[in-house]
Amino acid sequence: MSSVLHRNLNLNLPMAVRGEGVYLYDAAGKEYLDASGGAAVSCLGHGHPDMVDALCDQIRSLEFAHTSYFTSRPAEDLAEKLISLAPEGFGRGKAAFVGSGSEANEVAMKLARQYHVERNDHKRHRFMARRMSYHGNSIGALGAGGHTQRRAIYEPMLIDNLLISSCYYYREGRPGESEQDYCTRLLDEFVQTIEAAGPETIAALMVEPISGATLGSLAAVPGYFKGIRAICDQYGILLIADEVMCGMGRCGDYFVSAQEGITPDIITIAKGLGAGYQPIGAAMASEKVISALYDGSGMLSNGHTYMGHSVACAAAKSVLDIMERNDLLGNVRRLGAELEAKLRTAFGDHPHVGDIRGRGLFWTLELVENRETKQPFPVEKNIAGRIKHVAQQNGLICYPSQGCINGEAGDHVLVAPPFISTSDHLTELVDKLQTSMDGVLSSFAAAA
Ligand code: PMP
Repeated sequence: MSSVLHRNLNLNLPMAVRGEGVYLYDAAGKEYLDASGGAAVSCLGHGHPDMVDALCDQIRSLEFAHTSYFTSRPAEDLAEKLISLAPEGFGRGKAAFVGSGSEANEVAMKLARQYHVERNDHKRHRFMARRMSYHGNSIGALGAGGHTQRRAIYEPMLIDNLLISSCYYYREGRPGESEQDYCTRLLDEFVQTIEAAGPETIAALMVEPISGATLGSLAAVPGYFKGIRAICDQYGILLIADEVMCGMGRCGDYFVSAQEGITPDIITIAKGLGAGYQPIGAAMASEKVISALYDGSGMLSNGHTYMGHSVACAAAKSVLDIMERNDLLGNVRRLGAELEAKLRTAFGDHPHVGDIRGRGLFWTLELVENRETKQPFPVEKNIAGRIKHVAQQNGLICYPSQGCINGEAGDHVLVAPPFISTSDHLTELVDKLQTSMDGVLSSFAAAA
């Protein structure tokens, strides 16, 4: 019986003891192809020797110095590098380093509020996000997002957020509606929601440029993000891009915002930033936001003990160095095209795969009971949970989610393999996924 308080108290999880490249091993010696890195974390795979060296070097010289007394070389180098990679127009921004994606979004929300206060705009305190979104589990970030299931029991403790529709053309585009008309409808809804709430009360909109945690590597229709950016500007609302899952090369560039042709005011990253070698997240503030702080109090009105942790920052800088040295963004694009082709070959005609979508090495199968009507499987069938379990038994770690959120859409299976994967690894991934899905779906069909 485990003494660790895991998510599911009744599950007997295998003990992970070793990782090497794209594989994880448990105490019984069983091998697992890690095709999701938990949730898109392990972009360099496991046990990368250069990461081990970077971590050991840093911990030998300096493990921690509190950021109210010192800056440190790893934090400075990492911040400088990230700002240099930020989308065009971000300017001379700054980055704050914390321990997770949730914390990064907390910092982003506080920065957004502080930006307005510094400019004597005290009324702006409300946050907007999209339905079926997830921005973290801490009370602020959970309150900003629209994850009904995770919010449920905490509802009375959460902030007063404002939700707009997700950009989910596959499921929410109307019959006969073009992508362009759908986009216009969503942007109109955004404007109407702002007007109804009172634009002068809204601090920021938080969005994932490619939705990961809830809707499965779902990109927006063309023009959507440029429209969102323009409306934010029109109403003085800051735009926070949550790239915790989709950023840091996962989709073929360091930032998906750049792919979408927008410059957010604040960008948050985590997961692939530390690649699992250290817990680290970052809130990157653009020059526009930083200037307001300089012109105002000259302070960041927020702090955490482990901010700018030297070992975590050294790890993240080393991840970026390894990516650059080995052209891993090139790998992501090349392997991404291969993965897409393999998934379409294996699942393109599958009666229960309604949509295959993604970018880079970030791909999702949306599962449906009926392809024609897009009817999801009933939530009680727990299709995603069963696929996760069977896949793990078959030696595959993937990331299925049930009914997106509470059955509002079809269950989906997300894969996010390491950037160091080979073509053979992708073949193994698709084969194991096919076997696992067939096992679950055929037994479901038999039971129905
Ligand atoms: N934002 C997004 C888009 C995420 O996917 C996640 C994690 N799934 C978070 C925020 C929260 O990150 P963490 O779990 O590191 O707190």
